[in-house]
Amino acid sequence: MKVKRFDDSIRRAALYSRVSTEEQAQHGVSLDAQKERLSRYAEENDLTVVDHYTDEGISARKKYTARPEFMRMIQDVRDGKIDVVLFVKLDRWFRNVSDYYEVQAILDKHKVQWLATDEDYDTTSANGRLALNIKLAIAQDESDRTSERIKFVFSNMVKDGHVISGSTPLGYKIENKRAVIDEQRANIARATFDKYIDCRSMKETARYIFTEYGVTIDAKSMKHMLTNKWYIGEAYGIENWCPAIIDKKTFELTASLLETRGQRTMTRTSNVYIFTGLMFCGECGRRMSTYSYANKKKDGTKGKTIIYYRCSARSMLQCEMQKQINQQKLEAWLVENLISEAKKYNIEIKMKKASVPKRAPDTSKIMAKIEKLKDLYLSDLIPKEIYERDYLSLKAELDEAKQRQEIREQEFINIKELKDFEQMYNSLTPESKKAFWGRTLKKIVVYKDGSFDVTFNEA
Ligand SMILES: [Zn+2]
Repeated sequence: MKVKRFDDSIRRAALYSRVSTEEQAQHGVSLDAQKERLSRYAEENDLTVVDHYTDEGISARKKYTARPEFMRMIQDVRDGKIDVVLFVKLDRWFRNVSDYYEVQAILDKHKVQWLATDEDYDTTSANGRLALNIKLAIAQDESDRTSERIKFVFSNMVKDGHVISGSTPLGYKIENKRAVIDEQRANIARATFDKYIDCRSMKETARYIFTEYGVTIDAKSMKHMLTNKWYIGEAYGIENWCPAIIDKKTFELTASLLETRGQRTMTRTSNVYIFTGLMFCGECGRRMSTYSYANKKKDGTKGKTIIYYRCSARSMLQCEMQKQINQQKLEAWLVENLISEAKKYNIEIKMKKASVPKRAPDTSKIMAKIEKLKDLYLSDLIPKEIYERDYLSLKAELDEAKQRQEIREQEFINIKELKDFEQMYNSLTPESKKAFWGRTLKKIVVYKDGSFDVTFNEA
C-alpha cells in the first residue's frame, strides 16, 4: 500500500546529496545513486524539484556552514522557495547533534520539513523525536570514535595491526610495531580486573595491586584501564586487533559494575544555563530564574561556578517556594531518569501487550455492524431506543478494539541505544546539551519537597 506522506501544501522539494572524500571510493553512496533515488522519490510523490544541492568531498563532521551547496539550499529555504528537503539517509544530512538543532531551528522557522527517503523517522511524536535524538547522538558518537580523518590516514597501518600511539595499556608491549602480550605485566592487569570484581572498589583494588605487585595505579588510570577495550583485543573500533588479556565476560561484568557504581563523570557545563525556559515553580506556577556563584578557593581565587534555579517570585516574598535546584544535580537526575523511564515504558508495554488477547476483535467488522444498525433504524425496522442502545455498546466495543490495536503497535525502546546515549550525552558541549533539552523537554516543574514533574515535548 502506498502511503501518502505529504499533505497538499507540500509541493516544492529540495534534493540534497553529500559524499565525503573517503566515501567517493565506496559503492552505493555515490552521488549519482543518491540523486537518482531522490529524483524518483520526488516523482512518485508528485513533488516539484526546486534544485539538486550536491556537496562533494565533504565530511558530515564538518560544520554545515563549510558545505557550499548546503548553504545555498539554506538561502533558498530563507527565501521561501522550499517546502521539504529530501535526502537519502540521516547520515547524509548530519552527524553532529548541535548542527542538526541549529539547522532544524531554521527549517522550523520557515515551516520546512525534511524527509529521509530510505529511513523512517517519526518527528511528530515525543517518542519518535527521542528515538531520533538517540540515533543522531549515536551517529555522532560513532563518527567521533572512528573519525573519518583518522580512519583515512591510519586505516592501512591499523589494518596491519600496527600501534598508532606510542603507549600501550599495562600488560602489552610493542614488538615490530605490533602490540603483543607482556606476560609478566599481563598478570597484573588480570589481577586488577579480578580484584575489582571481588571488592567493587577502585581504591581497594589500587591498594591491593600496590601491595602485591608494587605498581601504583591512580583513580583515573584505574577507570581507564577497567574500561579499555584493548584488553578484549579491540582497538580503533576493530575487533581482534590485538591479543586479548581479559575474556569478554569478565570485561562486561566489570563494565556493568562500574556503571552501577553511580559515580558519574559529567563534563562541566561552566556558565551555560542548560535548562533556561524549561523550569517552573510548582507552588506558584512562575518561571524559575537562574543565578550562579563561584565558590571561592582557600587562596581567594575563583573556583567552580555553581548554577541554581529558583522561583522568580521568591525574593519578593510572593511565593513560599524556598527550594533551589542545583543544575548539575538536576542534569544527572534527568539523564538517569530518562533511561529508567524508558525501561519503565518498556515494562509497561510488555504488561499491556501480555494482557491483550492475540486475536483482538476486528475493527472493520464492528464498523460494518454499526453501519448495518444505522440502516435498520433508517429503514424503520428498529425503534430509536434499540438503535441507541446497540449503537452505544458497539461504539464501546470499537473504542476498545482500537485501543488494543494501538497497544499492539507500540514499540519498545532499545536499551542498548540508551546506554550509548548516556555516553554521548556526557561528551556534548554545554550549548548542545541546552539544545538537546530544549527540544526534548517541554517543562520541568519543581515542588516544595524537591520532587519534579517532567513533561516531554509533544508535536
Ligand atoms: Zn513560586
